[in-house]
Order: sequence, then C-alpha cells, then structure tokens
Amino acid sequence: MKPGTKRQSSPLYRGRFAPSPTGPLHFGSLVTALGSFLDARSQGGEWLVRMEDLDRPRERPGAADRILATLEAFGFEWDGGVICQSRRDEAYREGLERLLAGDLAYPCGCTRREIAAQGLPGAEGPRYGGTCRGGLPPGRRARAYRVRVERETITFDDRICGSCGHNLWNEVGDFVVRRADGLFAYQLAVVVDDAWQGVTDVVRGADLLLSTPRQIHLQRLLGLPTPRYAHLPLVLDAQGRKLSKQDRARPVDPANPLPTLLAALEFLCQPPPPEPPANLDEFWHWALQHWDIRRIQCPPAG
Ligand code: GLU
Repeated sequence: MKPGTKRQSSPLYRGRFAPSPTGPLHFGSLVTALGSFLDARSQGGEWLVRMEDLDRPRERPGAADRILATLEAFGFEWDGGVICQSRRDEAYREGLERLLAGDLAYPCGCTRREIAAQGLPGAEGPRYGGTCRGGLPPGRRARAYRVRVERETITFDDRICGSCGHNLWNEVGDFVVRRADGLFAYQLAVVVDDAWQGVTDVVRGADLLLSTPRQIHLQRLLGLPTPRYAHLPLVLDAQGRKLSKQDRARPVDPANPLPTLLAALEFLCQPPPPEPPANLDEFWHWALQHWDIRRIQCPPAG
C-alpha cells in the first residue's frame, strides 16, 4: 500500500496497540495491550500493532522484535502486518506540506531554552508564546515546524473519563509537528497513521489524555476523522511514577504469562475467572466473554 492511501475496508471497530520500542514490555504496557485488545475483539473488531519507532535516538536495538515476541507468547493475535513508523516519513512529510500549504503551520527558530525563559506555564511544561508565528525573526533559521492552534477549547467524550479537553492556546500554544532534529513529531505521526490505518478506536494509557486535543486539532486541520478514545488508568511504581520502558521498568516474563495476564485483568477492574485458568485459551475465553470497559474507573486527574 502506498503511504497516504487509505485502506480499503472500513470495519465497525478497528483498534490498535502502538508501542514505542524503547525497551521490553513492562506491566503497564501489557495493561494497555490487554485493554485495547479485549475492547476490540469482544466487539468482533480488528486489532493492529503499530511500532512507533519514530524517535530513533530513544530506540533500543532489538526492542521491537522482543515486544512482538512477548505479545505472541502472551497469546495476542493481531491483524495484518506490523506497520513501522520509521518507514512512513513520506506520509508525514505529505501531512506537514499540507499544513504549510494552508498556512496552518510555520517554521520556528526558537530553542527550547528560549521558550523556557519566556516562563509561560502550560499543561506539559512551558507553553509556546508564538514568537515565530508571524514569520522567522531576521537572522533566525527554521529549526522546528509548529502548527497554529486556536483559542477555542477542544473537547471530546472519553469512554472511560467522560468529557475531557482543554484550550490549546492556553495550555500548549502552537505545537511542534517536525522537531529541530528533523524527526516528525509523535502528534503528527499518530494522527496520520490512525487515519491511514482506518483506526476507529484508540484505547491507550491516560498519560496521553493531554495529547488527545492536539491530535483532534490536527485531524480537523487535515480533514481526517476523529476516532473514539478511551484512556486507561496508568500503572504507577512505588514512587507514584508511570512505569516506563526507558526507565528500565521490570519486563513482563514471556515464559510465565498467566499470572501477569490475571493481574492485568484485575488492574482493569474486570472480574477474575472463578477457577485459575489452566492455559492461555481458557484465560482469553473468559476475558473476552466478560470484558466491560464501563467497569474501569476514570484515572484521577493530574
Ligand atoms: N507510542 C506511544 C507509547 O508507547 C503510544 C501512542 C498512542 O497509543 O497513541 O507510549
């Protein structure tokens, strides 16, 4: 399939799991995989795996293969081949060019330090104040590309968290779609890929709840459909921080998947099987029969 072309079929439900290969799967990413898989399959939907290997500097060699082997050992089955974002630059470039052609994005010469020095508080670190909005100041060269945001509040109805959203102008400012190191930003890539792959339902961790209004904004500018969203509670470590592959959170053990799957099911507030399952088939049968996303509590804000 050529980048930029749409897949032919349009199922009622197509979900996806989109790990970044920055390390092996840990319990938190397994919870996300389980939630998105059960939600898709329990509704007769398709489930895709997309490797988000866009951020080459953060990637760990061998992590992508290890993630796929672990998913397989846990009994996950995905539809079609695994799409790798590292092969999709052409599609992201096309997206950026469309934004630039419509004057919806612009080159920015500001450094991270300069933006921080402006001291504008935002939802995820300093908010961009719009220095290069009207054109690059004399003597500055383009470093990154930013998309323009509006003063309107972007809201969406999350299947777990209810009504969510924020004002991008106040919380984020014009945000980066192509980074100073030349890599396309996650926000652009995810929007281009979700649309290209015909994803109808995004079920992912609540750490991305704040990204969703940015993604909806990009979908609107690019004329792409907005999927349904459900953000799962995050698994935290003893210090209350999100488990992270980069921080070398303990990997799940592919040699002994059942206890981990049962713990993940419990974390997602689903009823445990009355008897410990004898094998993976029994686990998946039970979990698919009893999945109900409405049992999950909305993660606390902040
Ligand atoms: N690649 C992201 C991660 O591993 C997930 C992106 C998404 O689900 O939209 O955290």
